[in-house]
Amino acid sequence: MDQGRGVPGAIILAPRTKNTRTQNQELRTPHSEPRTKNTRTQNQELRTPRPNSPFSIFNSQFTPISLSLTNLCMFQILSYTTKNFEVNMRYDVIIVGAGPAGLAAAIYSARGGLTTAVFEKAMVGGQITVTEEVENYPGFEEPISGFELTAKMQAQAERFGAVFIEEEITAMGMEGLCKVIEAGGQYYRAKSVIICTGAHPRRMNVPGEERLTGRGVSYCATCDGAFYRDKVVAVVGGGDSAIEEAMFLTRFAKKVIIIHRRDELRAQKIIQERAFRNPKMEFIWDTVVQKIHGETRIEKLELVNRKTTDITMLPVDGFFIYIGILPSNQLLESRINLDSAGFVYTDEYMHTNIPGIYAAGDIRYTPLRQVVTATSDGAIAAWSAEKWIIENEDEFEVDCAEQ
Ligand SMILES: Cc1cc2nc3c(=O)[nH]c(=O)nc-3n(C[C@H](O)[C@H](O)[C@H](O)COP(=O)(O)OP(=O)(O)OC[C@H]3O[C@@H](n4cnc5c(N)ncnc54)[C@H](O)[C@@H]3O)c2cc1C
Repeated sequence: MDQGRGVPGAIILAPRTKNTRTQNQELRTPHSEPRTKNTRTQNQELRTPRPNSPFSIFNSQFTPISLSLTNLCMFQILSYTTKNFEVNMRYDVIIVGAGPAGLAAAIYSARGGLTTAVFEKAMVGGQITVTEEVENYPGFEEPISGFELTAKMQAQAERFGAVFIEEEITAMGMEGLCKVIEAGGQYYRAKSVIICTGAHPRRMNVPGEERLTGRGVSYCATCDGAFYRDKVVAVVGGGDSAIEEAMFLTRFAKKVIIIHRRDELRAQKIIQERAFRNPKMEFIWDTVVQKIHGETRIEKLELVNRKTTDITMLPVDGFFIYIGILPSNQLLESRINLDSAGFVYTDEYMHTNIPGIYAAGDIRYTPLRQVVTATSDGAIAAWSAEKWIIENEDEFEVDCAEQ
């Protein structure tokens, strides 16, 4: 399908080579296709903007000065010039991030009859795609891979008409009723935005870590602990969550060895005391992991004592890294309320402090970060967005009118 030729509002895009589930995807205007139709076809194409496209910002009233300032200060640009550039596409709901939270939000939003676009900068499915066996998502008696689980969610969302766009959202204008989004040099308007940008564990950045993630290296005891029955596992970290997750692992593993870079833990005293009393726990002090060894699975850790500089090998079946979890919040500037670690505060309706903007999943300040909680958040956020849109229908007609 030749997008942009005679299709008002369509975008012309160029082929992309990203490692995403859909190498070739086609964008459609939600108003030009029946909403209930599956919007993904076998050989869909993504293209980048052509300067001469009637739908390109290069033909709009956006000035060169504005363009050069864009990278420096997009939020202000979007705030002051929303009337001066061409908006390529309008949606009821734009979802930022296609992890489990974004996918569930897309299912609820599109099924509710709202035109819905989901933007994903990397891999549709989010963090869970690296996990080979998800055992704790309801409805799957046997383990399912994270990739397959989220592929099903994507297909379900597409069946209701959600559009997936393989672009990073790089700026968001939050002012007014109608929000403005920038992605891949294009501008989009939405009546509501759901932020599902997720989080990621802090990496150690040692050799072997990336290659053996999901093959014995894990960042989540709740997710993977049950795979280590009667095995020996090591945990790196000394804070509350490292020690609590290590204690959780003792339910399964026969031995849990904490490796800590200092000679005392940072965790609260009461948590430490419980850990020291646990007969399955052992501690290696003043030590860091400098390499993770293993061919197809983890085999051993190469440790270095920071005081003596002695190097030792520790054979393990699993290795859990707890040196912090980082929110993917680069997009959110000071106007969205965040906790001290950078996670978004919401209420139980997933409202942020900005009307019309919701947050769901791991990016939220929340006690549990799992697929099931992310999908639940996504559903609530989409439901809240729908109510918001219905309640403000008359105002949207003025504020989001065609320019
Ligand atoms: C190794 C590992 C194993 C796990 N195992 C389990 C398990 O067995 N069971 C379980 O329930 N949970 C598990 N989890 C936790 C689970 O993966 C997360 O709780 C869940 O993925 C959170 O979903 P989310 O949609 O909130 O965020 P994410 O999965 O982090 O998805 C966010 C998405 O947003 C995209 N994004 C970010 N910023 C932008 C932007 N500006 N523009 C466009 N896209 C953007 C990212 O690329 C990403 O794809 C595991 C996590 C890890 C790391």
